[in-house]
Amino acid sequence: MAPKVEPVPSDATLPASTRVVVIGGGVIGVTTAFFLARAGVPVVLCEKGEIAAEQSSRNWGWTRVMGRDERELPLSQSSLDLWRQMNALTGRETGFRQCGILYACDDQKQLDEFLSWKTTADTYQIRTSILNGAQAADMAGGAQRVFKGGLFCPTDGRAEPTMAVPAIAAAAREAGATIMTRCAVRALDRQGGRVCGVITERGRIACDTVVLAGGAWSRLFGGNEGLDLPSLNVLGSVMRVDNVEGAPEESVGGSDFAFRRNIHGGYNISRRNASVSDITPDTFRQLRRFMGSYVRNRHEMRLRIGRRFIEEMRLPRRWSADDASPFEQIRILDPEPSHGLLDEAFRIIRRDFPPFRTMREVERWGGMIDVTPDAVPIIDHAPTLPGLVLGVGFSGHGFGIGPGAGKLLSEIVLGARPSVDPAPFRLNRFSA
Ligand SMILES: Cc1cc2nc3c(=O)[nH]c(=O)nc-3n(C[C@H](O)[C@H](O)[C@H](O)COP(=O)(O)OP(=O)(O)OC[C@H]3O[C@@H](n4cnc5c(N)ncnc54)[C@H](O)[C@@H]3O)c2cc1C
Repeated sequence: MAPKVEPVPSDATLPASTRVVVIGGGVIGVTTAFFLARAGVPVVLCEKGEIAAEQSSRNWGWTRVMGRDERELPLSQSSLDLWRQMNALTGRETGFRQCGILYACDDQKQLDEFLSWKTTADTYQIRTSILNGAQAADMAGGAQRVFKGGLFCPTDGRAEPTMAVPAIAAAAREAGATIMTRCAVRALDRQGGRVCGVITERGRIACDTVVLAGGAWSRLFGGNEGLDLPSLNVLGSVMRVDNVEGAPEESVGGSDFAFRRNIHGGYNISRRNASVSDITPDTFRQLRRFMGSYVRNRHEMRLRIGRRFIEEMRLPRRWSADDASPFEQIRILDPEPSHGLLDEAFRIIRRDFPPFRTMREVERWGGMIDVTPDAVPIIDHAPTLPGLVLGVGFSGHGFGIGPGAGKLLSEIVLGARPSVDPAPFRLNRFSA
């Protein structure tokens, strides 16, 4: 139930000290380590499982500017620039292709939203065009479905999640980073109220700064350190199919479907605008924070109560650095995908898009997404913990903005001039 990720072996020896420790080997942690190492900064990345084994290999692989919250536009533009250079920067294949992304819509309300977003995008010199229904259907591989129109961004692209982050990790190591896998960070080490290192399951590492990029685990880690990070975990599901003839190079998303070509020649498909949110003890703890988000997304979010409530209740929320942490209990978060949503996606795509009539399922998987109340990430110093920097809450679209976010995090760590204004990503926006 997990896509096969290019392996990145661990370094053998845990360094006793370094300048920066990065917690988490997903796209955010790995790109942060990459840019720090390239700047000549000693850095150790600790990953509890394997590099990119959680969200960063399980996502759709869309690297887009299109449709983003305005606060994310500069970061997504800088990220796309980096994606375009990524094969050259890493000396490896990341699967990046500037294929263009099409959003097709069914009604005037959605088309008005496209038009309004395009007006904003124009002020950022983002090249997009509005298509009529026939043009959208044509670009989507001759869809047999009546679209009202479409929004197309030719400069957006895709990268291959199972290859990209491992490639960047290998390049980070070449640039001098130490990469430790199967090495959970249990807790922060502090002196005089300041972070001075981490305690891992394999020993202590002294350092000046720690970057927390723990994806769906960040809130749990933060909680043990007295930091209440606003974040809930939501399930996304993907299916890989083959035997598709004549489908477009462009990635296409509509109100209830999404597909994009993968590097194996097949397609990754999904049920767009639908995810599953398991009700857990954390749902109740954060009910007020997320109420607005539940109301806004009520048509897209399927709430469910089941096994995860008990699983989460059983996970300790407090532990000491001497004891095994929850991060050692669950090395790789490998949730069961939503079979119902994937079956729906398969049915809709086969019905509406002739190139997919003969498709066959190859595999399916789930991924746990960490979402903030406004679906925009937190990239900031931890206000109450000097020495800790946060790169968390990428809310289901962190793969595309990963490289820009990693670069920005490296600049925040070094106190360098930021390539993108970090103000929209401050943690204190939630307490305002
Ligand atoms: C189904 C699905 C579809 C998506 N589609 C897209 C898309 O098309 N485009 C897009 O831009 N984004 C997409 N996303 C979102 C994107 O995948 C994430 O936003 C991004 O990968 C987050 O990266 P990350 O590094 O923050 O987290 P992760 O990739 O989850 O990495 C966090 C890592 O931290 C490790 N870790 C946690 N705690 C510790 C600890 N204490 N010690 C050591 N290691 C620890 C974990 O093991 C994990 O490997 C999608 C996500 C899913 C699940």
